[in-house]
Amino acid sequence: ISKVKILDVPFVNTTLNEFIDHILNEHILKSKKASIVTANPEIVMHANEDSSYMQILHHANYVTADGIGIVKAAEKLGQPLPERVTGYDLMKGFLSKANQQKMSIYLLGAKDEVIQLAKENIQKTYPNLEIVGYHNGYFNWEENDIGEEIKQLKPDFVFVALGFPRQEKWINQHIDQFDKGVFMGVGGCFDVWAG
Ligand code: UDP
Repeated sequence: ISKVKILDVPFVNTTLNEFIDHILNEHILKSKKASIVTANPEIVMHANEDSSYMQILHHANYVTADGIGIVKAAEKLGQPLPERVTGYDLMKGFLSKANQQKMSIYLLGAKDEVIQLAKENIQKTYPNLEIVGYHNGYFNWEENDIGEEIKQLKPDFVFVALGFPRQEKWINQHIDQFDKGVFMGVGGCFDVWAG
């Protein structure tokens, strides 16, 4: 996948469906881990003011264009991107593939009652995927029990809803300890799934 730099943030030059297929073929099938950041204009601006956050974006395997603002900016800069690839659409696409192919997922983030409801609604909508674990997003970062649990459970996908920039920091801080899994920050998506 080629990349297009916008204000120093390297975006993948791909459509949503191409990107989903790429992740399945190159990471899920090969049990090769990956980290994905879906970056909206707020994230791009923040990265340009905070070099440690910019480093996290450079360290992620993939950064996608989360919203029409990024697609428009790319066009203005003469390096067009085909379409937006948002966190919610990507999560839905991955859940749908996970359902078809009986893959496993882990959900990390949001308040306890939100994650419970999100988990139930996701399981109802996608009965064939396996939710191997979940945890609310209010925990002590110094204790690494959650990372250890995810390492043991080896889910195919780990959706992290801690809000920006926490979720990207958490994934970046922990990715080295995992042997497999596709890790993605999904912002307020669990609240949407909770209904
Ligand atoms: N969240 C969390 N832990 C925190 C802060 C936020 O799990 O320490 C969750 C919050 O409950 C919500 C999600 O992260 O489900 C998105 O939060 P917010 O709307 O603040 O983030 P943004 O929309 O700015 O990414």
